[in-house]
Amino acid sequence: MYKQTCTNLLELSPDEVKAWLNSFDSVISDCDGVLWVYGKAIAGAADVMNNLKSMGKRIYFCTNNSTKTRSELLEKGVDLGFHITEDGIISTAHATAAYLKQRNFNKKVYVIGSEGITKELDAVGIAHTAIGPDVMRGNLGEFMSKHLVLEPDIGAVVVGFDEHFSFPKMTKAASYLSDPTCLFIATNTDERFPMPTLVVPGSGSFVNAIQTCAEREPIVIGKPNPAICESLVKEKIVNPARTLMIGDRANTDVLLGYNCGFQTLLVGTGIHQLSDVQQWKLSKNPEDKKLIPDVYLPKLGDLLPFIIDSLTGGSY
Ligand SMILES: [Mg+2]
Repeated sequence: MYKQTCTNLLELSPDEVKAWLNSFDSVISDCDGVLWVYGKAIAGAADVMNNLKSMGKRIYFCTNNSTKTRSELLEKGVDLGFHITEDGIISTAHATAAYLKQRNFNKKVYVIGSEGITKELDAVGIAHTAIGPDVMRGNLGEFMSKHLVLEPDIGAVVVGFDEHFSFPKMTKAASYLSDPTCLFIATNTDERFPMPTLVVPGSGSFVNAIQTCAEREPIVIGKPNPAICESLVKEKIVNPARTLMIGDRANTDVLLGYNCGFQTLLVGTGIHQLSDVQQWKLSKNPEDKKLIPDVYLPKLGDLLPFIIDSLTGGSY
């Protein structure tokens, strides 16, 4: 429905919106920029998600944020008023651990990231290095001769969001990756975080730095890579054609939807706006066309009156 037209739902008739609401039975939503921003729920988002659930739709939260485990994300979602269970949370940290486990990985992981990753690795019994600061000591010569120690049994480098990213970490990661059998895994490639006045580097910025000096491409687990939703689709838990992907960032969320054959909804409460979509529509690059969502809303909460109308069967 409305395939890659970026139709503004607020410009449709109530009956058309109702028909659209009936065109999907699973909803996969991004979190930051759609449901909440910086620990605060976006107005109306919880009511919309909870009411979609009341309509009988399956609800999933899908995040590229690698700093939190599924149980921490669950706690945050519940605190902010969302009716969600741990099964309904799809996270890159969890999917990364699952990816290694599925491949019977039995060496040690060098982690550039946070507890979100190490706790999920612990949960599946995979050994890993410690996280936290690894700072430069002395000058380069001193660091190389005295302080740089490589561990012998590293079989994978996992890169996620790391607020302690440093020259020593970069050196170690690239050195481990000079062994072609060492896996290079990125939880996600989001370049930056949505924030009103600052630019905060995201995992993608760290991944790019490692990628440049290691001269290797990573396996990317997170959106827009379909790997993150693979089990839902493969096990036929969701029917792609009747699944709606909601997001605020086109090159992760909308593109994931495109890659998985889901319907897509872009909301204007985060990274990308209608003006961005206009540019992609005009672009000659076929890759840009994949970023155009099916439908658009200024904010998810705008859907509430239509859902309530649908639930009560009244006229809007
Ligand atoms: Mg987002």
